[in-house]
Amino acid sequence: MVELKGKKVLVVGLGKSGLAAALFLRRRGAHVTVSDVRSAEALAKDIPALLEEGIMVETGGHGLLTFRRQDLIVVSPGVPLDTPELVQVKGFGLPVIGELELAARFLKGKSVAITGSNGKTTTTALLGEILQEAGLPTLVGGNIGVPVVALIDESTELSWSVLEVSSFQLETTQQFHPNIAIILNITPDHLDRHGTFENYARAKERIFAAQDEQDQVVLNADNVRAAAAAARSKAKVYWFSLEHPVPQGTWVENGFVVYREAKDAATEKVLPLSGIPLKGEHNVENVLAAVCAARLAGAPAEAIRRAIEQFKAVEHRLEYVATLNGVEYYNDSKATNVDATAKAIAAFSSGIHLILGGKDKNSDYTQLADLLRTRVRAVYTIGSAAAKIESQLRGMVQIHSCETLEKAVNAAAAAARPGEVVLLAPACSSFDQFESYEHRGRVFKELVNEWRGWKVWQNA
Ligand code: ADP
Repeated sequence: MVELKGKKVLVVGLGKSGLAAALFLRRRGAHVTVSDVRSAEALAKDIPALLEEGIMVETGGHGLLTFRRQDLIVVSPGVPLDTPELVQVKGFGLPVIGELELAARFLKGKSVAITGSNGKTTTTALLGEILQEAGLPTLVGGNIGVPVVALIDESTELSWSVLEVSSFQLETTQQFHPNIAIILNITPDHLDRHGTFENYARAKERIFAAQDEQDQVVLNADNVRAAAAAARSKAKVYWFSLEHPVPQGTWVENGFVVYREAKDAATEKVLPLSGIPLKGEHNVENVLAAVCAARLAGAPAEAIRRAIEQFKAVEHRLEYVATLNGVEYYNDSKATNVDATAKAIAAFSSGIHLILGGKDKNSDYTQLADLLRTRVRAVYTIGSAAAKIESQLRGMVQIHSCETLEKAVNAAAAAARPGEVVLLAPACSSFDQFESYEHRGRVFKELVNEWRGWKVWQNA
């Protein structure tokens, strides 16, 4: 449905993308209602703008009648699809789509979409900067912060939209059709919502469901589940690998990131590994994926190299905070699953004081066992997952129960010796003690800075 004028549309969930979708729909002439289970007080800051635009607002729950009297339902990524009202109206044949699907129907130009369990934001930001450096008219949005509907007005036939897409957004796509799709990796995450690993992996594969032979998909040859997706893709498959050459795509050879367009084409050197300013091999994977997509979009190697050399780690992603008394502090608050934490640990060879914990997502922390034994001096647990983490890791590593981030930073800072690292990479979500992972990361940085102040005072 491209004509929205006069259509009755319900937006379920008033997050950032729901709000943007409601305003977009209204401006295109739809009769819009929004429905959210939160109270009117909790949504107070957004309601006046909606009412002013002539959008109807239902708060404190969903009315089945509200759901029935619609032509289209746009559901926000945070709303579970098994919400009873949604299940019921779907049964009546009402179309239920997400903001990404809605936006994709109106977005002009070409697009690259990026999904994966980890590395989406970093790779999206990096690819956006590369395409911009190459002089292509570039828009960046999706899960990274700017809802895709907010890009529509700026998009033209010449634009390249670089879109970060999560598995939740992909659950509600139908015709979403990126020219280039990237699956960075598929490792266990969000099993509390998707149920099984296979369901979660299948949601990620929806990124290429509407692609055809003219399109391209970029897959991680080193990640078993992401590589297996190739069998179901109609698009042309390109690969990236840290471990070995690939028929077409990017890999590492003699200290360089290299690219080859096709099996019988020449191998191009794009940039030396020493030109990558980000820590950890996982970031080399992100670079490989971004370079492959950038070459496919037509960016020259020279622009790619310049953009990568200037790129700074996105906040809360293995972000360097400070060096105090020879101890380095890193904020990887966005490590909200076990694989991201494993990658963060692997970025340092030894002497790590690791802060772990928060809200558990049904995760298996024993997967960290080998890395903990070889690289971690002590673990400092926080939050509601602490007891589970401690029982799973007992005997593998020294563990200190700290309950709060403040106690953990103080204990780790007191124990760390020069040359060692204090790392916040908690493997859990933040919602038990913080508003968000950003909030947790900011508190960590403040605590480190307080510790710095205390050290200065002590040495004075
Ligand atoms: P996402 O948007 O997928 O959550 P981010 O770039 O925000 O990805 O990074 C999330 C977490 O995963 C951070 O802790 C980061 O250090 C880590 N990370 C980044 N890239 C990768 C990767 N390719 N593989 C595993 N972990 C990664």
